Amino acid sequence: MQNTKYIFVTGGVTSSLGKGIIASSLALLLKSRGYSVTIQKFDPYLNVDPGTLNPYEHGECFVTDDGAETDLDLGHYERFTNTPTSQANNVTTGRIYQTILEKERKGDYLGGTVQVIPHVTDEIKRRIKILGTEGKFDFVITEIGGVVGDIESLPFIETVRQMKWELGKNAIVIHLTYVPYLAAAGELKTKPTQHSVKEMLQQGVQPDIIVCRAEHPITENIKDKIALFCNVDRDNVIESADVDTIYEVPLRMLKEKLDIQVLSKLGVKTQGEPDLENWKGFLYRLHNPKSEVNIGLVGKYVELKDAYKSISEAFIHAGTFLNCKVNLKLIHSEGLEKSEKIVKDTLSSLDGILVAPGFGARGINGKISAIKYARENNIPFFGICLGMQMAVVEFARNVLKKKDAHSVEMLPSTKYPVIDIMEEQKKITNMGGTMRLGAYPCHLKKGSKVYKAYQKEDISERHRHRYEFNNKFLKEFEEKGMIATGINPTSSLVEVVELTTHPYFIGVQFHPEYKSTVETPHPLFISFIKAASLSK
Ligand code: GLN
Repeated sequence: MQNTKYIFVTGGVTSSLGKGIIASSLALLLKSRGYSVTIQKFDPYLNVDPGTLNPYEHGECFVTDDGAETDLDLGHYERFTNTPTSQANNVTTGRIYQTILEKERKGDYLGGTVQVIPHVTDEIKRRIKILGTEGKFDFVITEIGGVVGDIESLPFIETVRQMKWELGKNAIVIHLTYVPYLAAAGELKTKPTQHSVKEMLQQGVQPDIIVCRAEHPITENIKDKIALFCNVDRDNVIESADVDTIYEVPLRMLKEKLDIQVLSKLGVKTQGEPDLENWKGFLYRLHNPKSEVNIGLVGKYVELKDAYKSISEAFIHAGTFLNCKVNLKLIHSEGLEKSEKIVKDTLSSLDGILVAPGFGARGINGKISAIKYARENNIPFFGICLGMQMAVVEFARNVLKKKDAHSVEMLPSTKYPVIDIMEEQKKITNMGGTMRLGAYPCHLKKGSKVYKAYQKEDISERHRHRYEFNNKFLKEFEEKGMIATGINPTSSLVEVVELTTHPYFIGVQFHPEYKSTVETPHPLFISFIKAASLSK
């Protein structure tokens, strides 16, 4: 295609309507028609990136290959489109202001007054266009976080207005809104949608397509009403009903012709249907599993499902690949600290135990108890990042008999710092964006369990941590049966540990969950589920 086309996705009425899923579904439909597509998200908050946010605030922080700490919606983009994202795909208001203020301090504005318009809007525009001008994409889908009408989203909506004005037919806006059902009146109500479109009109933006989230089917006359009062064609009012899995949404959007409406608005000629054979095959297997396993995920943010989003999605991808339904039970690590009996009662019925990533000391003893239980009872175990580090601590304490062993993150004065702060981390004082982040290579030992899972020696996985296995103790660990089977080839950092005498006990310093997609389920999740099925 000659010119990159820009599609903006805004939200009205309330947050959490699933703009990320709609954007990802549209990207999948366009990609399946043979176009190249990328998705970008703007977040209106002032944090420079979500890396410093507690998972209770915004769910998990998703990490890209280039080491960006991003919003979890980027995870959906990658899982749906099987295309990696990067730092350019997630920008916050904080980052925009940081760039502008750094330029201001350098004197780049030559004495001019720095203002929201044009400086902030120009910087937003520049970051939207970066993806288009690289020339790699036919479509750039830009999701604007938050809800239209929020003070924070004003500069973004103004930028959308300017870009629509500049680009004419090459830019459109999809507005996602909510159509509530009033049970007492037995009716769906369009008024909140009308108001949110009015709010956009006040800011100079006319949406081209309105996608309506509703818990009840939207009738024809509701669509007519929304079209009439919101100035959109009747065909451009799209229903987005609740579905039992997010992976159903692309097919719903296909049925509602979202892709066709988008292409026609952008003046792109369409032919035929998108090729969704693989996607449909995935959904068929998802809905028709042949077996089940029960996996426990031990973590400290379990009250909020989104805190472990990529892990739970990775289980869906790998389980579906194996025609196996994974029942994921979220277990609070603090709860396991009460007694050994509780540990046994909670874990004994599980086919596999995963100890999750995390930061800080809360619930750490519960994680260690879960690992001990998995190790001693031959239950398949998978430790990710902090989960791997605690597997090392548990082994040091209970097998190497170093009672005081710990990670220096939890106990800086420990006599046996089996997990230590990385050398380059010692001088760092800023918290934001300073961990070991992004993709690093790892070499796997032939014949090991991880090698069997990946079927290759050289892999690359994403990282997000400050602490690491302390190689000073490696020999002692290996002598007693915990061996390092994955090593970073340049720094010699231990990336994978496993137990030689256990059916399946693997701890990884990296985050495999970030690379799992519908199209390419992750080999470690596949091998873990296989091991769990065998242990039933
Ligand atoms: N807190 C640990 C570290 O910083 C583990 C991090 C994680 O699990 N992502 O090394």
